[in-house]
Amino acid sequence: MITELLHELGQLISLRSLKARIFLIILLAGVIPCVFMRYGILDNYEERTVEVRIATVQNQLRVVGNHLISNNYLNNTQPDELSYTASRDVIDAELETISNLYEGRVLIVDSSLRVVMDTYGISEGKTMISEEVIRCFRGENTSYYDREHGYIEMTVPIVDTSLPPEEGNTNTSGTIVGVMLTSISNEAIIDTMEVLNRRAVILQNLMFVCVVAVALLMAILVSRPLNKVTSAINDVQAGHTDERISVPGYSETAHIVEAFNQLLKRMKVLDDSRQEFVANVSHELKTPMTSIKVLADSLLAQGDAPAELYKEFMEDIVSEIDRENQIITDLLALVKMDKKVQELNIASVNINDLTELILKRLRPIARKKDVEVVFESMRSVTAEVDEVKMTLIMTNLVENAIKYNKEHGWVKVELDADHQYFTFSVSDSGLGIPEESLGHIYERFYRVDKSHSRDIGGTGLGLAITKSAVLMHRGSITVTSIEDEGSCFTVKIPLTYISQ
Ligand code: ADP
Repeated sequence: MITELLHELGQLISLRSLKARIFLIILLAGVIPCVFMRYGILDNYEERTVEVRIATVQNQLRVVGNHLISNNYLNNTQPDELSYTASRDVIDAELETISNLYEGRVLIVDSSLRVVMDTYGISEGKTMISEEVIRCFRGENTSYYDREHGYIEMTVPIVDTSLPPEEGNTNTSGTIVGVMLTSISNEAIIDTMEVLNRRAVILQNLMFVCVVAVALLMAILVSRPLNKVTSAINDVQAGHTDERISVPGYSETAHIVEAFNQLLKRMKVLDDSRQEFVANVSHELKTPMTSIKVLADSLLAQGDAPAELYKEFMEDIVSEIDRENQIITDLLALVKMDKKVQELNIASVNINDLTELILKRLRPIARKKDVEVVFESMRSVTAEVDEVKMTLIMTNLVENAIKYNKEHGWVKVELDADHQYFTFSVSDSGLGIPEESLGHIYERFYRVDKSHSRDIGGTGLGLAITKSAVLMHRGSITVTSIEDEGSCFTVKIPLTYISQ
């Protein structure tokens, strides 16, 4: 249990597990937008609030500016006049209100850069040479937000519309006779931002918890069908079942399960065929043994049997032993052929010479049955083959054509080639193969007529060996046959060996 947990943890850390990847992807997809949203919204809010505040203050100052012009505040020509003093007080009060309202300071600078009015009362009468003021006299409104020190600074021109604009100044509709330099505190904005930020952090943390929960849930849900597939496969592996497994879930897991079921089916077919093969081998090996035992038992039961009878029985016993030997030799040849790793001993072989040699060896057997063997070669053929296996193929086919032939029959061996393949065909005037058996003759131990074939001396392994050898050369073998008329086996093999 602990090792399993450690294993899971290791996979999570190394990100090899699908669960870990899904968890991380959902987590990042959920958290990153949250963080961006928080900072984005807060920044936007701050920018917009500052803009609105600047516009409001500038508007109010513009109104005061108009009052200044209409009351001739800057020229100060009749300082002792009662009405002038009264209106100056009103304007001072207005400026005072603005500076109180926005916790700021307003300075009025006239065209000779002299500070006419300072709501703090410190700089009156001093000369103010600042870039903002000079730019404002030129008609450029400036505003500057200093976030670090917590203030907004702006300049507003005092425009006398009764006078024409100065030369080169197209931004105003009159002469700029003074500038209001204002700095206001942005503490209120900062306070609001802090409150908003605190709420955003709470919301963000809540979202984070939700995203973690969703990511965990999704990771578990997505990987669950895969875990089911693993446990179903483990069940099969442990031998609890060899049935088809079924894991309804995603189409992807359904595909894996289907592929696994196909594999299971194929394994079952292989297992069945292996079992059938073992049963067949045992049966085939047992038959000569039973005959030997019967022959020996009957000899023993006779007690004083004549010597001729002994001889006759012993001959039968020897022929059964030969048969047993033949089956074992064929089986060993087949097993060797089945080994996929088996290497072919490829060499350039003259197929015409090889055929002549094989026919020379088999002609005595044919002569015994009075079967005529003819060889017809269309051209001289040299091919890259394994000579031993090629001999096996040709011998088996010609031997069968002789074995399953009629008295005074014929066997015709033909050799031909094109630029890619050579064809070796063996036709005979023999018993032929029934149509229903044609699909089975390459199966191990298959014989068309068991008793007949056994009499002739067949083991039912010859064609299985032949087909294996042909396939090893990347060739093909086909057969056509008419019962009681004869058969024709054709082998087609590449002239040049193609390794995989
Ligand atoms: P066997 O060792 O019994 O000959 P094979 O695998 O060589 O086994 O052949 C399988 C069966 O196919 C044979 O038992 C026989 O009935 C049939 N067969 C093979 N070749 C021929 C042929 N040339 N003519 C008729 N029947 C054939």
